[in-house]
Amino acid sequence: MAVDLGLRAVLKQSVEQATEHDSSGKILLLSCIDSRYPERIFETMDDLGYRDRYYHLALAGASHGAKHDAHWKSTFNDHLDFAVTEGHVTGVVILDHLDCRAYQLYEGTSPGDPEGERLRHIAVATNVVNEIVLRHSILCGNVTAYLLPVESAPPEIARS
Ligand SMILES: [Zn+2]
Repeated sequence: MAVDLGLRAVLKQSVEQATEHDSSGKILLLSCIDSRYPERIFETMDDLGYRDRYYHLALAGASHGAKHDAHWKSTFNDHLDFAVTEGHVTGVVILDHLDCRAYQLYEGTSPGDPEGERLRHIAVATNVVNEIVLRHSILCGNVTAYLLPVESAPPEIARS
């Protein structure tokens, strides 16, 4: 099992905060569709004992996917509305990641400019977080975005 301690800490904090006043509440996780991340997220949530405490929505670019165009935005909002009204969601966690192809293609980030990449994620995610709270004021204080580091294969250190 490849549980990530940094991811583990932020997910634990987010779930605890979102369910502080409602122990039956759940969170909606928004991640990128990038195949490096869903398994890591699932294993971490499972290890925390949160298997039944969240819903997982994946859109290209995570925060970008929530605002890409009118269609993507509508898809995100429809799922958010459903999760809040039917799924008893009391918090949202957005998991952006560095080296994101959707951000490179649609937000103009470059792997050669990590600070510019980080700032673009902050700008987009901040707008999306604010729009989520405007849409569902009940979520105020429980909508958070994080920027995950680049997920890579372990470095090879010996070979025969
Ligand atoms: Zn991505």
